[in-house]
Amino acid sequence: MSRFDGKVAIVTGAASGIGQEIARRLAAEGAIPVIADLNHEAAEACAAEIRSTGGDALAVAMNVVDEDAVGSGVADVMAKYGRIDVLVSNAGIQIVSPVIDLPFADWKRLLAIHLDGAFLTTKACLKPMYAARSGSIVYIGSVHSKEASKLKAPYVTAKHGLIGLSKVVAKEGAAFNVRSNVVCPGFVRTPLVDKQIPEQARELGLTEDEVISTVMLKDTVDGEFTTIDDVADAVLFFAGARSNAMTGQSMVVSHGWFMQ
Ligand code: NAD
Repeated sequence: MSRFDGKVAIVTGAASGIGQEIARRLAAEGAIPVIADLNHEAAEACAAEIRSTGGDALAVAMNVVDEDAVGSGVADVMAKYGRIDVLVSNAGIQIVSPVIDLPFADWKRLLAIHLDGAFLTTKACLKPMYAARSGSIVYIGSVHSKEASKLKAPYVTAKHGLIGLSKVVAKEGAAFNVRSNVVCPGFVRTPLVDKQIPEQARELGLTEDEVISTVMLKDTVDGEFTTIDDVADAVLFFAGARSNAMTGQSMVVSHGWFMQ
């Protein structure tokens, strides 16, 4: 019997990239992942793929910055399964620009998806978790929760902010056996990163290969990208931890780019 058998895990932004792999891995360990994503069609495809391998999965259309959509998505999960054991707050975007050129609207849009989204989904999931006196929340931060890079002001700000939110949730949730932690990946080849390679090349006057070798992977110990598997391993470790010993923490998974 796996530590995740029969557990219900909402994963936001799980129709693509890192979130999709987290959902697959949770399903492989017996959990029922809820694929909560803006892109409903891709979420349905991801849930169908998991069901075709013999697991259960539910797709939910959810814009994490829309309080009503978050509330109704969580209500649908409760109506169908009657429990929420795990929230993985993963939905996110990237916008690349120097501060001096960054439109205010882009600053607000990025902060909203990362921070308002984390807040709204956390708040909605804490209610059933507190009632059950059990739960685990994992935020997908980044090495940019600890470090800065040029061109990423709103992203670095939001990812640092998630660590603060997680620590407060760890303190408030402890009385209800609700734990809260952050996984901080290095660069992972997902659509989010593939989109920014040419954008960074343009902004920095480099070739795309130079962006990879001199910006993204320069400080890793082995010149390797972090993989979706590497990140899922860390998420499952936090999500499945058995006591409050593992709460209020953040773990960097980055091939040594950032060392604590
Ligand atoms: P991705 O672009 O492959 O997937 C992001 C998913 O989030 C998409 O399915 C998208 O539809 C969804 N999404 C976007 N806005 C949403 C919203 N408002 N509501 C609901 N869903 C929304 O990206 P990814 O690389 O898998 O990134 C996932 C998370 O991992 C993000 O928080 C990102 O910041 C973080 N992260 C990524 C990397 C990396 O190198 N790829 C590194 C560190 C952290």
